Amino acid sequence: MTAYLFTNVKIFEGTKPKLEAGEVLVEGNRITAVARGRQTIGRERAGEVIDGGGATLMPGLINPHCHFTYSNAVSLADITALPVEENLLVAIRNARTYLDYGFTAVIGMASAKPRLELVVRNAVNKGEFPGPRIRACTPEYTVSGGVGDDSRLDRFVPSIGLVCNGAEEFRRSVRQLIREGVDLVKFNNAGDSFTFGRVGGECNPMTDDEVRAICETTLNLGKRLAAHAHADSGVRQCIKYGVEFINHATFSSAATIELLAKHAARHYVIPAIAARYNTTYEAQAWGITEEIATQIGNKRELEVGSANMAKMHRAGIKVLPFGDYGFAWIPIGQDCRDLEHLVNLFGFEPWEALRAATAYGGEAWAGNSGELLGRIKPGYWADLLLVDGDPLRDLSLLRDRERITHVMKDGEFYRRPTLVV
Ligand SMILES: [Zn+2]
Repeated sequence: MTAYLFTNVKIFEGTKPKLEAGEVLVEGNRITAVARGRQTIGRERAGEVIDGGGATLMPGLINPHCHFTYSNAVSLADITALPVEENLLVAIRNARTYLDYGFTAVIGMASAKPRLELVVRNAVNKGEFPGPRIRACTPEYTVSGGVGDDSRLDRFVPSIGLVCNGAEEFRRSVRQLIREGVDLVKFNNAGDSFTFGRVGGECNPMTDDEVRAICETTLNLGKRLAAHAHADSGVRQCIKYGVEFINHATFSSAATIELLAKHAARHYVIPAIAARYNTTYEAQAWGITEEIATQIGNKRELEVGSANMAKMHRAGIKVLPFGDYGFAWIPIGQDCRDLEHLVNLFGFEPWEALRAATAYGGEAWAGNSGELLGRIKPGYWADLLLVDGDPLRDLSLLRDRERITHVMKDGEFYRRPTLVV
């Protein structure tokens, strides 16, 4: 493996509010030295020197709520209807798109079909296809009538979710999916506006017994937990049963936010706010006007959720960006729009949004594995981006693939400019 020395770069370290001039050495798949200010790193250590020309060197982006098996369709039903073979091609293509846009690690947050995420993870790990580092998830677990149960009594309609009822059914199915090789188990202990009024976000259709069975089974087998939890009672169950990834958390009460703040080290909150903002204001072309978004409760989820995310952020709870890209009006690749949402809707400083997308995302991806990613620091994995411009001044740069000139994953360039001679 070549040793690369990045010179003449401004470094976003992952946790610091300002860019700093410096140099970074990559040896093998790790960052091994960082020099700041006027310090330099010996050129003799570098196989190749890359003069960044004043560009920003930052950690690769980490998406903790990724649906790389979704096809940018208009509805979940359209994704469910994709045969598994076509769906696999979509997933392979999306994995490459994520890497192209600078996402060097993602956490799957519900596979469209049971084995899709894990087979793509395995293929990427073997070097068969380009893609980010992947944590693979189950499909979303749900109960009859919950989010993700699309079945009908009058005819067969497949569901995107795995539908179980009662603790025993959940135990059996969770064990089977862990046997297949998932890294995390996700379940829906809340409704959602996307059920178009059938079961609203404030409702929680799962019993405590069912949630406990899912969580105990998963944790006993050493895997990790994620929940779709808009409802306050759902968020409470996540705290009670050790669910690390609390998605949405929209209707958390003041008392729940206080409790969550006490346990902030154990949880990540991922609002996936684009599924609210973009759906309310930018989905007219697909038939969802602001009026419809209001009727189904999507706009309310946006407003209540945004106010609560601002509170959680101020209370020191780790609120992470990204999530639910993979629909027509929130297409895969444009995920960094979320960084602007964090600033505009939740009151984040731009550097805090970028910290959540890198350093905090890295902690979330690693869990207790001991792996180090998401920062520019000796010992960390060499997952790096060179960005033409200053993303702290303009976060929208990160939505533009052309401005992300270099993408390095695991010490190797996935993409860099080629010299035309
Ligand atoms: Zn999602």
